[in-house]
Amino acid sequence: MTRKIAIVGAGQSGLQTGIGLLKAGYEVTILSNRTGEQIRNGKVMSSQCMFDQALQTERDLGLNFWENDCPPVEGIGVTVPNLEQQGDKLIDWSAPLDHKAQSVDQRLKMPVWMDEFERLGGNLTICDVGIAELEELAATYELVLVAAGKGEIVSMFERDEQRSRFDKPQRALALTYVHGMAPKKPYSRVAFNLIPGVGEYFVFPALTLSGPCEIMVFEGIPGGPMDCWGDVTTPQEHLQRSLEIIRTYAPWEAERCHNVKLTDDGGVLAGRFAPTVRMPVATLPSGRKVMGMADALVVNDPITGQGSNNGAKCSRVYLDLILARGDQPFTEDWMQQTFETYWAYASQVVEWTNSMLLPPPQHILELLGAAQALPSLASRIANGFDNPADYMPWWMDDEATRDVITTHMQSGAA
Ligand SMILES: Cc1cc2nc3c(=O)[nH]c(=O)nc-3n(C[C@H](O)[C@H](O)[C@H](O)COP(=O)(O)OP(=O)(O)OC[C@H]3O[C@@H](n4cnc5c(N)ncnc54)[C@H](O)[C@@H]3O)c2cc1C
Repeated sequence: MTRKIAIVGAGQSGLQTGIGLLKAGYEVTILSNRTGEQIRNGKVMSSQCMFDQALQTERDLGLNFWENDCPPVEGIGVTVPNLEQQGDKLIDWSAPLDHKAQSVDQRLKMPVWMDEFERLGGNLTICDVGIAELEELAATYELVLVAAGKGEIVSMFERDEQRSRFDKPQRALALTYVHGMAPKKPYSRVAFNLIPGVGEYFVFPALTLSGPCEIMVFEGIPGGPMDCWGDVTTPQEHLQRSLEIIRTYAPWEAERCHNVKLTDDGGVLAGRFAPTVRMPVATLPSGRKVMGMADALVVNDPITGQGSNNGAKCSRVYLDLILARGDQPFTEDWMQQTFETYWAYASQVVEWTNSMLLPPPQHILELLGAAQALPSLASRIANGFDNPADYMPWWMDDEATRDVITTHMQSGAA
């Protein structure tokens, strides 16, 4: 008998999982509260930079349709400006990634994946799923996965107090998609600017509806000078505000922007949310269980650019364990275990990401400073974005971090 699975949400994790299940011979329904056309014509949702391991999970399912068209992100750069002297930098280094990263605008990607899902025989239903619809799904399908991202429905999964470090947004977020920015030389990169007491600005190449672009990402500390989007009323004002910020805090980045224009009126976003971890299983009024995945359960601040990567990796874990389940029922125990398998990885991403939201401790300043003179250390930090588990546990501990620095000093001197 073909197994029947329903997925709420047609984003990174829902579509990737749905398509993976179809390819394995399952009967799958995905419910989305927006059509592909609405997504395409809407506002940007993310900067969605994905690194190699996550991209590989897409390649494995034949979903890497933009591999050749999307401009590669070839490295990571870290700059800490000296706020006492405008234009001066305290730290400034970059390192190539071993494998390219890529960012494909979700407005471009998700509608194509929705078409692919239907082409493969999936049932795509447009519906804003609430409790009544979940009850119907849970009565009809063997497993209901809620992959609704930051949608309101995910609040049905109880917040995990122990695993959630923050109860308030830690950054005021903004995105600005532009054409015409001068490229970084000699290789493209995510150029991170960590501005003490203000927030972070990072920028990297991507592919949007109108072709290659750059995505400017602003992470303002709440109440600080980069938390400044409340009075912006038009996309053009949003662009002007973006440029004002970088002229003040990262003038070397403003130098790249003499000819920029917005990709389109939907190429801007401003908002905020609290990083949260939720319990993986929710019980409906009938007593039936549904299971969450990706952002619905583990939503990180975008400061480390991990959410889509996590979504893809979560999808891989769930897919493997659903297939391994064979004909056995998807019990609550199985749901808990499946989430814990993902959490063994995701918890490390959460811990690292949360640490980046707090003022950096001395040992992290030393680490970022030392990387400037130690290319092997810079490379390790840059390539950790592909697998943040590589930072753990040493990143959290001053002695262990100093040991890592010393090891790279010794190997550099050898
Ligand atoms: C400003 C910003 C920048 C980011 N930058 C990066 C980055 O550089 N790298 C990275 O990896 N990640 C980044 N992320 C995070 C990344 O976009 C998300 O983590 C990722 O999209 C989560 O995937 P998902 O499948 O869990 O949910 P989503 O992709 O959010 O998909 C959820 C879907 O569910 C639908 N939905 C919601 N409620 C319902 C309902 N009731 N019924 C039916 N459908 C519903 C929504 O319309 C949506 O299509 C960023 C996020 C933000 C906000």
